[in-house]
Amino acid sequence: QDKHRYSGIVEDCCCDYETVDHLNEEVLHPLLQDLVKTPFFRYFKVKLWCNCPFWPDDGMCRLRDCSVCECPENEFPELFKKPYHHGLPSDDLKCQEGKPQAAVDRTLDSKAFRGWTETDNPWTYDDETDNSEMTYVNLQLNPERYTGYTGPSARRIWDAVYSENCPKYPAEELCQEEKILYKLISGLHSSISIHIASDYLLDEATNLWGHNLDLMYNRVLRYPNRVQNLYFTFLFVLRAVTKAADYLEQAEYDTGNPTEDLKTHSLMRQLLYNPKLQAACPLPFDEAKLWKGQRGPELKQKIQAQFKNISALMDCVGCEKCRLWGKLQVLGLGTALKILFSVNGEDHSHQTLELQRNEVIALINLLNRLSESIKFVHEMGAAAEKLNEGT
Ligand code: FAD
Repeated sequence: QDKHRYSGIVEDCCCDYETVDHLNEEVLHPLLQDLVKTPFFRYFKVKLWCNCPFWPDDGMCRLRDCSVCECPENEFPELFKKPYHHGLPSDDLKCQEGKPQAAVDRTLDSKAFRGWTETDNPWTYDDETDNSEMTYVNLQLNPERYTGYTGPSARRIWDAVYSENCPKYPAEELCQEEKILYKLISGLHSSISIHIASDYLLDEATNLWGHNLDLMYNRVLRYPNRVQNLYFTFLFVLRAVTKAADYLEQAEYDTGNPTEDLKTHSLMRQLLYNPKLQAACPLPFDEAKLWKGQRGPELKQKIQAQFKNISALMDCVGCEKCRLWGKLQVLGLGTALKILFSVNGEDHSHQTLELQRNEVIALINLLNRLSESIKFVHEMGAAAEKLNEGT
């Protein structure tokens, strides 16, 4: 019976659940897993020590595993340092390593890659040119998993994200655009919960890690909307990546390691121009339907301001590793929003896409996280539901 819940077209998207599962399993997941391991995609520039702009710090992290620790500064690509740390001695650089525990014309002048930009993303809060206390984090060493971050601190963030920034209006009253913001946040929330469930500390005494299917069922699977929103978010981000295909194909993935960099470029090309994806799901999400009405521009500004607040809230997350992944994934979503809605071309003549290197790193890592969540739900969902029926 539950199978029927997730059949048919993913709401507001253009592909069905079965196709998404099949494409993810066969094409996207393997490619993304390889991509995020490349030197270009595994280092993320982030400011982890920042003041929460809304309330005093209430860090509530219980496990040592919440923290991200320093690793040798020569580890991340030398080329990454240059544009951002101009004039600074390299000794000031720190690298972090983990411990064990809109009416949119759909065409883009995307052939115009002119180097990575440093212009701030209009959808997010972070200042790209602010280098104070910026660090590079090796994402491979800091997996998103259970950290013990829970209780009032974590609850306050999610409450603020939902109630202050994208209130849960009754669905009928919600215009399409606002509903989309809610679904993106809910989809991301589902994905975070699924990662906690897939890599959970089952026994603290023996440091035993494994799947917590009960948690996955109780936080995500028993609410069909949360699963639907996960698929929606995945297709939304996938559309952004494929819309920017020509730009991303031309982009520079240099890290100073020619063999690895060629591999990164080749994997990107396989992702961006995948014949199986183009045949089965050529338009994962149709952004051209949005921002059409008279209120279009006003609504876009309102939603942009709401999303910026959500981005700022990530500085209030009281556990370092959760903050890292929160900031990365919100920047990834902000980048998808920028690709789909912030390249203005009302005159349909000239649209220029400019992305920061860090935005692309966030975008691809976010897509990978969502892909992992979809795979986990597809593979373990039935077992989790069965387990729960038995209790
Ligand atoms: P929560 O997940 O806190 O949910 C709070 C409320 O939101 C629920 O009661 C429900 O009403 C609603 N809700 C839940 N899911 C959805 C959804 N998908 N769609 C719509 N509404 C929903 N913990 C870790 O262990 N590891 C991490 O890496 C981690 N990263 C985090 C990143 C961020 C940005 C934040 C804010 C928190 C993070 N946490 C992390 C904490 C984690 O998300 C939970 O808050 C925590 O585990 C407590 O869970 P909970 O059962 O109270 O429900």
